[in-house]
Amino acid sequence: MMKDCIFCKIALGEIHTEFLYEDEYVVAFNDIHPVKPVHVLVIPKNHIAEFIAVEDTTLYQHLFTAVKKIVGEKELQTKGYRIIVNGGGAQDVDHLHVHIMGPVSPSNHE
Ligand code: AMP
Ligand code: ZN
Repeated sequence: MMKDCIFCKIALGEIHTEFLYEDEYVVAFNDIHPVKPVHVLVIPKNHIAEFIAVEDTTLYQHLFTAVKKIVGEKELQTKGYRIIVNGGGAQDVDHLHVHIMGPVSPSNHE
């Protein structure tokens, strides 16, 4: 738990948020400002500042398992999806999160 980290609070249930997926490592929930009809974030339950700070690589398995399940549940496998991780200062929230967005078409990435 990192004090004042909004995603730690979500992961711990201190900010009530519906989870679309949860396992022992990660939770997934809707982005509050969706840029596509589907815009889901997958985050580690533990505070990890950004992608390059991951030490326990088991987390990769849980993050991508969650991504795959969300893509399937949202039926994006035939509609187009993007998976994005901002880091190195490009991120707004300093708690690792994977964006899943869709539907998207080729050359319509924004
Ligand atoms: P990034 O620029 O990659 O750090 O993206 C941060 C994302 O977190 C943005 O898409 C925000 O809309 C989203 N976000 C910020 N606060 C919340 C919140 N309380 N619940 C859900 N999504 C949030
Ligand atoms: Zn955090």
